[in-house]
Amino acid sequence: MSGSALYETFARAPLSFERGEGSWLIAADGQRYLDFAAGIAVNSLGHAHPHLVAALTEQAGKLWHVSNLYEIPGQRRLGERLVEATFADKVFFTNSGAEALEAAIKTARRHHYVNGNPERFRTITFEGAFHGRTLATIAAGGQAKYLEGFGPKADGFDQVPFDDIDAAEKAITPETAAILLEPVQGEGGVRTFPAESLKRLRALCDKHGLLLIFDEVQCGIGRTGKLFAYEWSGVAPDIMAIAKGIGGGFPMGACLATDAAAVGMTAGVHGTTFGGNPLAMAVGNAVLDVVLEDGFLDDVTRKSLLIKQGLASVADEFRGVIEEVRGTGLLLGLKCRVPNVALNAALREQHLLTVPAGDNVIRLLPPLVVTDDEIRDALGRIRAGAAALSAAPVAAAG
Ligand SMILES: *Cc1c(COP(=O)(O)O)cnc(C)c1O
Repeated sequence: MSGSALYETFARAPLSFERGEGSWLIAADGQRYLDFAAGIAVNSLGHAHPHLVAALTEQAGKLWHVSNLYEIPGQRRLGERLVEATFADKVFFTNSGAEALEAAIKTARRHHYVNGNPERFRTITFEGAFHGRTLATIAAGGQAKYLEGFGPKADGFDQVPFDDIDAAEKAITPETAAILLEPVQGEGGVRTFPAESLKRLRALCDKHGLLLIFDEVQCGIGRTGKLFAYEWSGVAPDIMAIAKGIGGGFPMGACLATDAAAVGMTAGVHGTTFGGNPLAMAVGNAVLDVVLEDGFLDDVTRKSLLIKQGLASVADEFRGVIEEVRGTGLLLGLKCRVPNVALNAALREQHLLTVPAGDNVIRLLPPLVVTDDEIRDALGRIRAGAAALSAAPVAAAG
């Protein structure tokens, strides 16, 4: 055995945390870190939120798992609440984002199959996409670095440049089933599809009988200041994958669909052992209790303006480090002039945790419950990190 017993698939920072409180992570030696990574947009309500802890521990004392062979009341309730709050009529619960995407892609293919068009199985996606790490979702994401060495790319995915709607139209063939995109690309570098583009894609799907699939695994559940990012555009999808923030740290995801889109998903055609289990459902319902409280989402937008104003002035002061501030709500990106990993490391030195993304961007993904004081604190750390990089051009180049 070399090194640890674990697969070497993650380049881990030399940090390990013992507990969390709200927007803070605390290491075994007591050192505190301000968490603007939030488990990559997973800890939507921060760490150890009392309402989530109560929901999970109460459920844990009653029933953990029964399988989908039986009725699961919490699943029915969370499904109804998601339907109530969105375009959707039907929900399928999963354990992860990738599984939610798999369910979405399968839903689209089955839709055409049962409608007498089994040849329509292909999905159009956009460069910079990230949809997960299963064999189908790496094919959907289309990124060479994730596909390399895993055999032939799963068939059925055609990729066009980011936000190139003309190219998407040209890519439509008699075999096309769906168009899939993240309204705001997370991994791809916090890149937002303009509302106008989503409207054009909706029109294309309607014209050609295609299903529009949104991946809101990262940008959903209040992250942009609406429950779902698509609401900013007024364009509703036919199918949507969610995960990350809905569990607040408990692994779960879901695929949402209209009745028409889900028409092929009948008894026995799809399944999951763990998806929608009572523990996950208790936490998912508790997350919605908080996110759907009056004023909660407006407060995300208010805090977003506070942090964006501060970031704009830091970017102004350190033009050699930060090129641009982008994003919506609390899904924010700093496009860097230095390597993004250098800024990420400099911020970690300041005990501020952030996440690198594509396009040389650093993502800022604070818990949605971050306070104004914590935002001001983070801005001070970002200024200090940027100053340290400006003063040390050698480190900045490395
Ligand atoms: C994280 C992510 C996924 C994959 O989710 P997993 O839970 O890691 O499988 C898919 N799509 C988007 C947009 C994501 O950010």
